[in-house]
Formats: sequence, structure tokens, C-alpha cells
Amino acid sequence: MPGADRHADIVIIGAGIVGLATAWALLERGRAVTLLDPGAPGGEASSGNAATLASYAVEPLGHPGLLSQLPALLFAPSSPFHLRWRHLPRLAPWLWRFLAATTPGRTAAATQTLHRLLTPAMDDWAALHAALGADTPETALHQRGALTFFRRRRHWRAERSAFTARDQLGIPQVYLQAHEVAELEPALAGIAQGGVHFPAAGHLADPRALAERLASRLAERGADFHAARVTDLSGAGGRVRIDSDLGCWHAEQAVVAAGAWSAPLARAVGDRLPLEVERGYHLEFADTPARLTRPCNPAENAFYMVPLAGRLRIAGTVELGHPRDPANPRRLAYLRRHGEAILGPLGPAQHAWLGLRPSLPDSLPVIGPARLPGVAYAFGHGHLGLTLAPTTGRLVAESLAGTAPAWLAACHARRYSR
Ligand SMILES: Cc1cc2nc3c(=O)[nH]c(=O)nc-3n(C[C@H](O)[C@H](O)[C@H](O)COP(=O)(O)OP(=O)(O)OC[C@H]3O[C@@H](n4cnc5c(N)ncnc54)[C@H](O)[C@@H]3O)c2cc1C
Repeated sequence: MPGADRHADIVIIGAGIVGLATAWALLERGRAVTLLDPGAPGGEASSGNAATLASYAVEPLGHPGLLSQLPALLFAPSSPFHLRWRHLPRLAPWLWRFLAATTPGRTAAATQTLHRLLTPAMDDWAALHAALGADTPETALHQRGALTFFRRRRHWRAERSAFTARDQLGIPQVYLQAHEVAELEPALAGIAQGGVHFPAAGHLADPRALAERLASRLAERGADFHAARVTDLSGAGGRVRIDSDLGCWHAEQAVVAAGAWSAPLARAVGDRLPLEVERGYHLEFADTPARLTRPCNPAENAFYMVPLAGRLRIAGTVELGHPRDPANPRRLAYLRRHGEAILGPLGPAQHAWLGLRPSLPDSLPVIGPARLPGVAYAFGHGHLGLTLAPTTGRLVAESLAGTAPAWLAACHARRYSR
């Protein structure tokens, strides 16, 4: 039931991990924070992801090498990618922009920006995690690195250019022979022909538990949460007016951090952004004793096998379709089939999940000012929203204070919305 108009210092729309981390960064700078979200904090994409803090993942999804892989990605039965063809007319403009971003020049520029975003990511996570006092098994942050491995030599050849690009940027990575992979992860003995270890990466024991911990610490420190769905954004008398199904807020500033649902809110303030959803899935299995010690990614399958608190999560793959389509059982079957080909029988799945990655065609998030003064954006993190949440929060706070680094312009909405 809508109530009387309310006043706020700064309103954050969306309490996923990006909105929560942004609220934290603003609270640290003395702002009074109000969070609006119709659902539970961290309950959408931020809950079921692969839990990996992938500070090494500087290569944009669209890159020159992808073009030669396209036929196999689109048509091979074992492809980790699936396009729901009946949605092609709706998806075509996004796909066109995605392909246009695969030139060497644009790929290099996106890699550079991702590198700048990702370089502080682990330090930003460590600082946030320490401040939360998150000390239960479910809220742990593990720093045991992450592993990409190859089941066939040809997959290593396909990965080589990415390896070289990371080397040139000084990203910590170690190439491993088959026996070295087996030493690191005995469950992969006889399966992995080689791999790359990223020792600086980490993972969360349970992304949802961490988001809940962050939300409760924010509430303890005075953040004001409301179960409201924002329906409109506008400027009114030098302030930002935020309309919702719970009533209206008038704020000095507002941040749109509504993940996959951000585009209509951006459109309301004059920014038309090509935000699409990459649907991804997970399956979870009992895992005592744990089969793996760190996130392990078979390069050809585009998923991660991750040891969470008490369970194994297999999460990933990409499906382009419609956000509201029901879950595709074939995608879940894909995770089980390839997971079992690697780890052996997994038993009954305890949980199956479909989530929506908010993605721009150039693999960069939207961070920075909106067309309407007083509004900032923090969405579109695609495959890296968990990794980049604390860094994004800091950059949004800097952007609102006018102290953001100049390179952040590469993430501004105006790169699309002129
Ligand atoms: C299968 C899979 C695996 C992944 N693995 C990883 C990984 O290992 N590492 C990594 O870094 N990233 C990973 N990601 C990506 C990551 O999960 C997302 O980028 C990240 O969770 C996005 O966070 P967010 O806060 O922007 O969005 P969300 O978590 O979706 O939160 C958006 C919030 O906005 C709210 N909202 C929507 N509309 C409104 C409205 N009108 N008003 C108010 N609130 C609204 C929603 O209720 C929601 O709570 C993965 C994603 C998937 C799907």
C-alpha cells in the first residue's frame, strides 16, 4: 500500500551484491543509505553464481578468437552455449553489437578496462570481508586460487592467446602439466591434460550467506531497507524522485543497481542501454568430504565446480533467450553430464537454479553518472558481478563525490547512450 512521500540522503535501487557493496562504500563515507528491493537481499543472480572471485578474468567474452569458434558454439551438441532461436529477432541488435566488439582494437581496450577494474578486486573483497567480521563456515572467503584445466590438448591451444595476454598484464598465473594439476586437485588425476592456476583468485563459501551477512551489518549500522519495487525515476526540484509500489522517495542522490532489471530504470532517466541477460544455471550435490579444494573450470565446458560450505556447486554455461522463459532442463542435464564425466557419479542434486547475468555487449559494466544529475549506475557486470562488487561500490562512491579516476569513463552509460 503506497504511503506518504519520504525523504532520503541516498537511495540504492536493488540489494544484490552490487547494491549491498555500494551501500557499504557509501555508509563508510558517512552517507545515510536507503535500500529498495522487492526481494530478499542477495536473492537473485548474487545467490547462485559460481562463487569465484575471478580477479584474472580480463578477457572480454567477445574477442577475435571467438568468431572461429562460433559454428561449434552454436551447433555442437556438447556446446556450453545455447541460443533460443525463437528469440533471435529480439536478441539480434544486442548480438550485432556483441560481434562488433570483437575487433582486436575494441577487445584490447575492454581488456585494459577489465584489468583496471579487476586489479584491486581481491584487496577490496578482503577489506570488506574483514570489516564484516564474517567468521562462520558459510561466510568464509577462501584464498586458494582458482584452476582452469584442459581435458584435451586442443583446448589448451585455444586458450593460449588469453594466457599470453594475461602474462603481458602481469596477472599471476602458472601453467601446470597434468601431474601438477593432479597434485593440486587429486580428483582431476587422469582427467586433466594440463591447466592454469590463478593463485591470487579466491572464492566465497556461500555467496548468499555473505550477502545476508552484509545486509544485516548494513542494517545494524543504520541502513534503511524497504521491500519496494521501483517503478519510475525522475528529477524534481533538484532532487531525485523515486516512485515505487510502496510509495515515493525524494533523495539527494540515487544509484541504480537492479542487475538484469536495470534497463527500464535507466530509460526512465533518458539512457537507452543495450542490457541483455545471459542465463546461467547451477546444480548442487552433497560433498562430504569435499572433492575439490578450489573453483575448477574445465575450459571447454564454461562452468565452474566449486566447493561451497558442505556442498559442491556446478555453475555456469550461457543461454541467450528471454529472461522470463522457464529453466531449460537440458542445460541442467549438461551440467550433470559433464560434471560426472570429470568427477564420477554425483548422486541426487540437492538444488537446481537458473540465474540472470546482466550483460552489456562489450563485457563492461555500467558504472558512473546517468543523464539525470544525482543518479549513478552500478549494473551490467555479466560474469564478474560477484568479483567486482566491492570495487564497484568504491568507484560509485567516488563517482558521486566527483573523484572517480578518468579511465572509468570507459564504463559510463554514455558509451552507448548519446
Ligand atoms: C551461473 C552463474 C555463475 C556466475 N558465476 C560468477 C562467478 O563465479 N564470479 C562472479 O564474479 N560472478 C559470477 N556470476 C555473475 C554474478 O552473479 C552477477 O554479475 C552478479 O550477481 C550481479 O549482481 P547484481 O547485484 O548486479 O544483480 P542481482 O544479484 O540480480 O541483484 C539485483 C537486485 O535488484 C532487484 N531489483 C530488480 N528490479 C528492481 C526494482 N524495479 N526495484 C528495486 N529492486 C529491483 C532484484 O530483486 C535483485 O535483488 C555468475 C552468474 C551466473 C548466472
